[in-house]
Amino acid sequence: GKHSLAFAVPVMSDSHQSVSPRLEKLLKRRQRFMGKAYRLFYEQPLHVVSGEGVWLYDSDGNKYLDVYNNVPHVGHCHPQVVEAICKQAQTLNTHTRYLHGLVLEYAERLTSKLPDKLDKAMFACSGTEANELALRLARASTGARGMIVTDHAYHGTSWAIAQITTCYKTSEKRGDNIVTVPTPDGFRGLYADDTLAADKYAEHLHSAIETLAQRGHRPAAFIVDTIFSNEGLPTVPAGYLKKAVDIVRKAGGLFVADEVQPGFGRLGTHFWGFDSHGVTPDIATMGKPMGNGYPISALVTSADVIESFQRNSHYFNTFGGTPVACAAALAVLDIIEKQDLQARALETGNYLKDGLKELAENNHIIGDIRGTGMFLGIDLVRDQDTREPATQETKKAVNLLRHQGVLIGSTGQFDNVLKIRPPMVFSKDHADLLLQKLVIVLQSLSDEARSKPGHPLP
Ligand code: PMP
Repeated sequence: GKHSLAFAVPVMSDSHQSVSPRLEKLLKRRQRFMGKAYRLFYEQPLHVVSGEGVWLYDSDGNKYLDVYNNVPHVGHCHPQVVEAICKQAQTLNTHTRYLHGLVLEYAERLTSKLPDKLDKAMFACSGTEANELALRLARASTGARGMIVTDHAYHGTSWAIAQITTCYKTSEKRGDNIVTVPTPDGFRGLYADDTLAADKYAEHLHSAIETLAQRGHRPAAFIVDTIFSNEGLPTVPAGYLKKAVDIVRKAGGLFVADEVQPGFGRLGTHFWGFDSHGVTPDIATMGKPMGNGYPISALVTSADVIESFQRNSHYFNTFGGTPVACAAALAVLDIIEKQDLQARALETGNYLKDGLKELAENNHIIGDIRGTGMFLGIDLVRDQDTREPATQETKKAVNLLRHQGVLIGSTGQFDNVLKIRPPMVFSKDHADLLLQKLVIVLQSLSDEARSKPGHPLP
């Protein structure tokens, strides 16, 4: 049947140049009723109709290995999560202005996953909202307004958060209270291959604080995605984050760890990204995988950070932390623990990394392989020495893989990093399949590049 986990993935027909009439109709309706601000993945957009585990199915019954989606953390449509949602939805779903056992149980379970002093959880529905609340808490707690972010960050969609989202041009003017620091990239960028890179990148926090001072601001928060996902999953020079955070704290600012991407065991080595840097944040924010697709997000912090905020404000979020959301999130935590998904992510990730390294020996387009657990990046280059980003080739690879039945994304400042970030139930067999398809696609790209020496691919 369509949902059998039989392993072979059919190779898609090569008809992606032309979009079928049925797809054309959907595209037109989408533009008609949703406008043009939205973007779709792929030259030939995908019409998915169902999912199970690491698989997605399109309207023609083709199955795709999902190497992209981190929201279905424990697998698409996990029956235990679906059951928890249904059961609670049949009983009660209200907001957090009534007492309810499930929200308390989840707050207790979630905070127990963080360092001792981070023992207060506040719930919202999206990563954006959690980050927005984090900035409000940071401003209230420090009495300062300055925000420091990296130069290619994504933190969400609201007015305030769009301003600290530096990876896109937006129509909003960035406030003068926001300053950027360079992405701490050990492979490319200001201090690539520099043994003093950690210190040199961290020094930029001093300059950022100085710039704020010149504009009449003190730092309220330094906020980073602790896997630097949109920055291209750089290998962060060891010790950078600790040094950077120390500088910010000395100037009175807080450190906000955006765990929306790395959190919940994805890195394999650690449950949270900040742990992998040996730094405890003042506030941690999380979202995406928390409810396996049911909207729930949170920030976790300490009583003293909340103190000044709660004196002047209260917090209420209609849909944040409802009993149904908490039922979903509790099921997710149960599955992570019962199936030991963090350990599995590390094991599968290491296995996959070994395979990628072998692949790199014959494919000069692979410049770097990095990341950990179920969060890996393949940096594609046009030249091993100059490390010129192979941006067009990466886009091509993403589209070719889609036609090989593999869904993958790209990231980074130059959009030349293939991003491997699948549901956590990804196995070694799935890794093998991904490697097989990468062999085919990267080989064809390398061949193409070789046949046109000196000419970038179209
Ligand atoms: N922070 C990071 C690091 C993210 O990647 C995202 C979403 N891609 C967000 C925040 C925003 O989350 P949401 O889309 O749930 O608002």
